[in-house]
Amino acid sequence: IVQYKDIHKAFGDIEVLKGINLDIQPGEKVALIGPSGSGKTTIIRLLMTLEQPTSGVIEVNGHNLWQMKNTKGELVEADDKHLRSIRGDIGMVFQHFNLFPHMTILENCMLAPTIVKKQEKSEVRKTALEMLEKVGLADKVDLYPNQLSGGQKQRVAMARALMMKPKVMLFDEVTSALDPELVGEVLEVIRDLAKSGDMAMILVTHEMDFALDIADRVLFLNEGVIEEEGHPKDILVNPQSERLQDFLVRFT
Ligand code: ATP
Repeated sequence: IVQYKDIHKAFGDIEVLKGINLDIQPGEKVALIGPSGSGKTTIIRLLMTLEQPTSGVIEVNGHNLWQMKNTKGELVEADDKHLRSIRGDIGMVFQHFNLFPHMTILENCMLAPTIVKKQEKSEVRKTALEMLEKVGLADKVDLYPNQLSGGQKQRVAMARALMMKPKVMLFDEVTSALDPELVGEVLEVIRDLAKSGDMAMILVTHEMDFALDIADRVLFLNEGVIEEEGHPKDILVNPQSERLQDFLVRFT
């Protein structure tokens, strides 16, 4: 469903991604691990179109993210409509929730489908209540974000992303801003989503046990290249490269 083809990304003189090739199948759960600064967040920001690659192609469902065909069949730079239609298949949950503080939890979830997809309000409300129930917050729908714990806020962020029925969900270190006692409830919701859904997932995480449990594949990113990838057991239990071994020692 998602393909990265020889993706390079530089910020100024610094090349952060040095040729990423990645093919993600529909429904596949991929955990992305690696040291700080190795480029994990950049990989998923590119897919959200929050960054543009320096070179290389990213395809979603066979559609080039940054190029489209015009009426004459020529390849041209993608316009906003093209980007929006592809982005509609992709949901993202950030480290810092990014909820709107002046809106209730229900309103936060209803916003994008009402405005972007122009869906009917009563339908959107029904779906929002279902999604909030799914993340265990059915009794909190009329509260505001600042009345919730960090773990609850993160679960709202997930319900909000699910509202758009994405085919791919991106999770960027969603537990790393949480107090340790709140991490479990958030991982539990992701685990349920992973086990029940046919959504593909890319998870940037430092929770190795969690990756072992839910991922179909683990990628170890180091200095902008995928240094090792494979089945979670092979990568996390029997790492081959010395750098991966050193990295894992620090996180387990
Ligand atoms: P962490 O685990 O610390 O979040 P990461 O693996 O997710 O790290 P990235 O956030 O992808 O790493 O960043 C990779 C490198 O790119 C870092 O050195 C970072 O400073 C740099 N970088 C990221 N975004 C920008 C930007 N907008 N402008 C300049 N440099 C950037």
